[in-house]
Amino acid sequence: MVGNNYMLEDVLFIPNFSVNLVSARKLTKRGCKITLDDDICSVNKEGQEVIRAKADSSDIYVLLPMPKALITTVPKEEDPGLWHRRLGHLHMAGVKALESMAHGVAFQKGQKEDTAVCVPCVEGKQHKHYRRHDPVARMTRRLE
Ligand SMILES: [Zn+2]
Repeated sequence: MVGNNYMLEDVLFIPNFSVNLVSARKLTKRGCKITLDDDICSVNKEGQEVIRAKADSSDIYVLLPMPKALITTVPKEEDPGLWHRRLGHLHMAGVKALESMAHGVAFQKGQKEDTAVCVPCVEGKQHKHYRRHDPVARMTRRLE
């Protein structure tokens, strides 16, 4: 594979060879057009550049990494409560801090997330308070 989107076929593998050589003639036989412009070599197939190389100090073209496809996405604005649950019921200050710390996290604006009640959190914070020294109703009869 050369670049991100062009595969060379019928290649020879030489284990002790330190560089990879690409035959210009093999490329043109496969329909590629090679353009040499100053110190840049560009290989195009069907109008799209598939390989780019730059001449180094020894006048050998060295393959340049091809830019990967640029995909931009706008993070979907979600309910902060959803992130609160995703993060194992993290406190809301931590959830809000995540928006500026991580890519792909965006919250719906104008939501009153602080007033939303998370039932599992409320239940998790409840506990029964035992008071050992409080008077306890005692039995007065058997099996009462
Ligand atoms: Zn919660």
